[in-house]
Amino acid sequence: MPAPPPRSVDYTGSELLRITWSDGRETVFQQTALRRACPCAVCRRQREELGPDRFIPPSILEKVHVQRTAPVGRYGIKIFWSDGHDAGIYTFQMLRDWADAVIPTEGRSPGSGSGRSRDAG
Ligand SMILES: [Zn+2]
Repeated sequence: MPAPPPRSVDYTGSELLRITWSDGRETVFQQTALRRACPCAVCRRQREELGPDRFIPPSILEKVHVQRTAPVGRYGIKIFWSDGHDAGIYTFQMLRDWADAVIPTEGRSPGSGSGRSRDAG
């Protein structure tokens, strides 16, 4: 089953990016972690050559934040970063997988996620 689309993507007012999916699940990422994980060809290559911690200079990475996002088809979103980078397409599947594996989410208590939603844009 393909990943469902997000119901909302909230990235304002913090260094986090929070996705509420249409199936009610919620995932939270550090914006800088998403920037470092940019899936575009250029970043992939630089990550391989320079290493995941170094391909973006820390002085830039620590200030980078999401300026806006845009849907890409029915399978992903594009993130426009404050450092001018916008080449990466973050597929829904990728984001869901990362939420489980790579990037730890903020602590939230499980078990009470019954259909409550907030309008976040
Ligand atoms: Zn990139």
